[in-house]
Amino acid sequence: TADRVTHFTESVIREMTRWAHQFGAINLAQGFPDFPAPEALKEAAARAIREDHNQYAITWGSPRLRAAIAEKYRRFYGMEVDPERHITVCCGATECMIATLLALLNPGDEVIIFEPFYENYGPDTWISGAKPVYVPLHPPDWTFDPDALRRAFSPRTRAIILNTPHNPTGHVFSEEELRFIAELCQRYDAYAITDEIYEHILYDGHRHIPIATLPGMWERTVTISGMSKSYAVTGWRIGWCIAPEDLTGAIRKVHDFLTVGAPAPLQEASAVALQFPPAYYEALRADYDRRRRLLVDALEELGFEVWRPQGAYYVMTDFRAFGFEDDTAFAMHLVREIGVAVVPGSSFYAHPERGRSQVRFAFCKREETLREAVARLSRLR
Ligand code: GLN
Repeated sequence: TADRVTHFTESVIREMTRWAHQFGAINLAQGFPDFPAPEALKEAAARAIREDHNQYAITWGSPRLRAAIAEKYRRFYGMEVDPERHITVCCGATECMIATLLALLNPGDEVIIFEPFYENYGPDTWISGAKPVYVPLHPPDWTFDPDALRRAFSPRTRAIILNTPHNPTGHVFSEEELRFIAELCQRYDAYAITDEIYEHILYDGHRHIPIATLPGMWERTVTISGMSKSYAVTGWRIGWCIAPEDLTGAIRKVHDFLTVGAPAPLQEASAVALQFPPAYYEALRADYDRRRRLLVDALEELGFEVWRPQGAYYVMTDFRAFGFEDDTAFAMHLVREIGVAVVPGSSFYAHPERGRSQVRFAFCKREETLREAVARLSRLR
């Protein structure tokens, strides 16, 4: 097999889902909702199929969806996005990320990634032939040391991957942090490639700022987001990249030969979601805040050390109070004996020892699911 696949293992998140099935455990490992998708969206998808949107859409996205994306970015962030020149619709933010890296990177290029990080970014970088350079985020609030970030940049730096709100820590990058990152990108002529899939899931007054809206950043940013988390349809695989025109041309070429296009009827239905009124997003935030409080407070009470997330729907915890030393051993104990699946912390680190005493819980679940999980976890005491 190729050398590039020796740099990574299969996804531990998805492996934990398979263990959850095997042991009949509650799956707080993989981040997908167990509650229904919005009725209006399911109806729109069924209608699109009935109306025969069943053949390939235009490779870079159906005109209706791209128009809706541009409209939404204008409404939420004041961004001027041209659907003809700046948007590529892909099979999820996952394809957006790898298509962007394949379109941008050459061998020898370096990509800066904050650690811990969502599993995909390391393999995406290696597959693209570039080299990841990691910069740690530090608890309790998971910020970075500005000097460490400055030292990570070099003339070889081609891009920084910025995931905000952040998986797995829930950190929402502040305007001050983003300005610091933006300044380094400009000084080193590097791109910011963002994963903003949790943009609408925010707590305690935290605000999401796309780095593309900061001065001097539009022409060096690829903004990635998608349907999965904002509208509870992780299985639809609809995501989008917003990028300057020349880079969009390169991303569209890669996307064309990777997958031709994202599912056509689901693109039509997605356009409906993007027109939901502000009340939809307010309810989304309030619902997630209730789930967050329920799980995070209970974990704290049980004896976990928890770092309260500012956004997204995960919480990183330290489990040493329970007498375990190793994250995989603890996660296997939880899934096998307690009946709750979580993700071992080390799978979010390139330096696995940094995550050895941590596990990640996902709380994108019905309150009754979370209550049942808490009841099972109380047997840990
Ligand atoms: N982003 C979600 C997580 O981190 C789901 C990832 C996946 O399996 N596609 O759990």
